[in-house]
Amino acid sequence: MKESLSFDDVLLEPKYSDIKSRDEVDIGNHLSETAYLDLPVISSPMDTVTEDEMSWAMYDEGGLGVVHRYNTIEEQVALVKKRRGFLAAAIGATGDYHERAMALFDTGVNYLCLDVAHGHHVLVKNALKALRDAFGDKVHLMAGNVATLEAFNDLADWGADSIRVGIGGGSICSTRVNTGHGVPTFQSVYDCSYSDRDAKIIADGGVRNSGDIVKALAAGADFVMLGSMLAGTDESPGEIFTSGNKKYKVYRGMASRSAQLDWRGKSSSPEGISTTIPYKGPVSDILRDIGGNIRSGFSYTGARDLRELQSKAIFISQTSASQIESSTHILRR
Ligand code: IMP
Repeated sequence: MKESLSFDDVLLEPKYSDIKSRDEVDIGNHLSETAYLDLPVISSPMDTVTEDEMSWAMYDEGGLGVVHRYNTIEEQVALVKKRRGFLAAAIGATGDYHERAMALFDTGVNYLCLDVAHGHHVLVKNALKALRDAFGDKVHLMAGNVATLEAFNDLADWGADSIRVGIGGGSICSTRVNTGHGVPTFQSVYDCSYSDRDAKIIADGGVRNSGDIVKALAAGADFVMLGSMLAGTDESPGEIFTSGNKKYKVYRGMASRSAQLDWRGKSSSPEGISTTIPYKGPVSDILRDIGGNIRSGFSYTGARDLRELQSKAIFISQTSASQIESSTHILRR
């Protein structure tokens, strides 16, 4: 049986560094020939994470927001119509997806995210081919999600320019519990890093902190996609509410019962949950902390950019005792 590792199972060994300031480190990456993200972070197309405001904030901080698809075509077009930078929006692989893609393209969207839970699927194959036929190279096609190298290569061959890697690892996800399927996201990213295709790797699901981001990038990811780390902010959709003397916002999986009821009017086989998370304030504060911590992470490996990080990184495995030592453990005493 194949062994698979999660973020907490590994650490990066610190290496000699001649980096004197974090300003010397470039953590950015090309998503396409024309789009360079200064911050390798993409916000997830979920209805409690990315609409217009999150998308603008992501752009302002050097990342990218993908506007979710859980609305009518007119509503989604209205969200992307307001704004700025390069536009990214999600579509499905069935139903109105083609019409939606056309409407988004006509509005100026040239980054389309084919947003499917199990991306290694004939419907994704057909949709990718149809979209490539319709748009040629005029759009960047992001697709997913996948968990294996075979799936990654197939999606790349079917026309995906970037691929969301990770199945079952999301903080609100119950796919592994309900279906018994999935691969730890760290392992999937590491496996897909062996691909000889040009498609970009987007580590997606289960990224909890900047340490996980640095591990994902060192393991081969070009970008990370975040849900829970960006939810609960001013820019995430949804109302702030107070309970006791604390403020909260809702964060939910798009396959949760509550999301399905809202968007489809019925629910079957939920694969996610809906929960509340503490209100966190402006997302720019979080993104700036993330950026600073990623720069520190690169400098611990002595890396000035992503390619150097990936070539120099040495992973070591952690025991459960070292996992405890790796956390702020005074509170356990
Ligand atoms: P997080 O960053 O760990 O919170 O995970 C966010 C990711 O979980 C998203 O980008 C999706 O890939 C995935 N996801 C979103 N909704 C669901 C769901 O309902 N079930 C399973 N996975 C989900």
